[in-house]
Amino acid sequence: MNLMGLFRSPQNELEKGGKEAEDAGIRSSCPRCGVQLPLSDLQENMNVCTACGYHFRITPRERIAYITDEGSFRELDGELMSRDLLDFPGYDQKLRNARLSSREKDAVVCGTAAIGGHPCALFVMDPNFMMGSMGTIVGEKITRLFESALETGLPVVGFTVSGGARMQEGILSLMQMAKTSAAVRRHSDSGLFYLTVLTDPTLGGVTASFAMDGDIIMAEPGATIGFAGSRVIEQTIRKKLPQGFQTAEFLLDHGFVDLIAPRLEQKETIAGLLRLHQPGSMISQDERAGGQE
Ligand SMILES: [Zn+2]
Repeated sequence: MNLMGLFRSPQNELEKGGKEAEDAGIRSSCPRCGVQLPLSDLQENMNVCTACGYHFRITPRERIAYITDEGSFRELDGELMSRDLLDFPGYDQKLRNARLSSREKDAVVCGTAAIGGHPCALFVMDPNFMMGSMGTIVGEKITRLFESALETGLPVVGFTVSGGARMQEGILSLMQMAKTSAAVRRHSDSGLFYLTVLTDPTLGGVTASFAMDGDIIMAEPGATIGFAGSRVIEQTIRKKLPQGFQTAEFLLDHGFVDLIAPRLEQKETIAGLLRLHQPGSMISQDERAGGQE
């Protein structure tokens, strides 16, 4: 029996035990202000820093829990997952790792739900699955969601987070930009409402397609939103870019984003927008008429 282990000094906070271990286990450091936040406070505050308002990246399941009415979410196409169609070196392993780290089959979760009593189709992208990159399955699931929303007459609410198109699927992932945009257009042509909520980061092919196709475009505070990265743009146009030009706040000032809603207010804001955009509803007109009297 090796007794040395009994006298080993603690290797980390968790091994020390007692109060210190408790604190180490339940605290998370804010990447913006550096404050150590008790995990319970952070979770209660929807993963928004209680000191500076920084919005932590969250999983699609957390977001669905924050936004939808309890027990209303029904997942669609949850079994679909990407394959290594182009025999891209290392992609199979990357997919396996992404499934393990995210516990999702691909980078978007789709379904139907109610938000403040209003039924809708919903998609939520996943930053933990290859940074929400868009491959064939992301494109296919979003297209199917719009097609089923068109059939059932539902509005669509979509949360984007993505580094862009998935390079391991080459041209097949770029084709998803056209496919999803066409599906959004058919849904829109039938008079149905589409709301996008851009979260940190929304970039590349996702920005250039369904993220910016919304009738109303919301964003989370501080989100980075853009197409190419700032270094690529500066090298291409050989000009210095303004500070923070790819933040939600800059884009709101310049008309690319319609409103910024903090996570804690999003459910109420989205429910209000869904209510105002109910197809054929006279509620908003009546309310407007009432307000003018
Ligand atoms: Zn903070």
